[in-house]
Amino acid sequence: MPKVVFDYAKCSGSNDCVESCPVDILKLSENGKWCTAVDKEVENKEAVEKFHQEVENKEHGEANLKIEFSMPNCIQCRVCEAACPEEAITIEED
Ligand code: SF4
Ligand code: SF4
Repeated sequence: MPKVVFDYAKCSGSNDCVESCPVDILKLSENGKWCTAVDKEVENKEAVEKFHQEVENKEHGEANLKIEFSMPNCIQCRVCEAACPEEAITIEED
């Protein structure tokens, strides 16, 4: 299953990956600062929880953490990787 990996040390919340994803499985966090996964599509809820606990309330520059989200609906087109201006998102096959 494809894994979408966010590097929160690099993510600037630019929203480019969200806008580029053809299957709409990425989103910005509630506070608009970080990119994350659409919860209902994510297999590993632990990653969502970790995101909420460890990243969501931090400011840019404070989060030094990579989190993997397993996404069954990711078609591995890698458009998000190409769109990201910070090289903060990568796609990995499990
Ligand atoms: S690889 Fe494609 S389908 Fe998967 S998250 Fe990125 S843009 Fe969306
Ligand atoms: S495109 Fe990159 S920098 Fe922008 S929100 Fe997505 S992961 Fe973060």
